[in-house]
Amino acid sequence: MAEKKRNLVKLKCENCKKINYYLWKKKSAEYKLNLKKYCKYCKKHTVHKEAKK
Ligand SMILES: [Zn+2]
Repeated sequence: MAEKKRNLVKLKCENCKKINYYLWKKKSAEYKLNLKKYCKYCKKHTVHKEAKK
């Protein structure tokens, strides 16, 4: 059986605070995600950070 060692995390635009992306992250990963991605609300690339549930 496959082990479930991954959490679904949300990436939130730091500019408009909307959630634009979902991705899987290993549960053991301690780091916080901080990615520059395109925001369809801001219509530009912004910093996206991991959002808490
Ligand atoms: Zn945005």
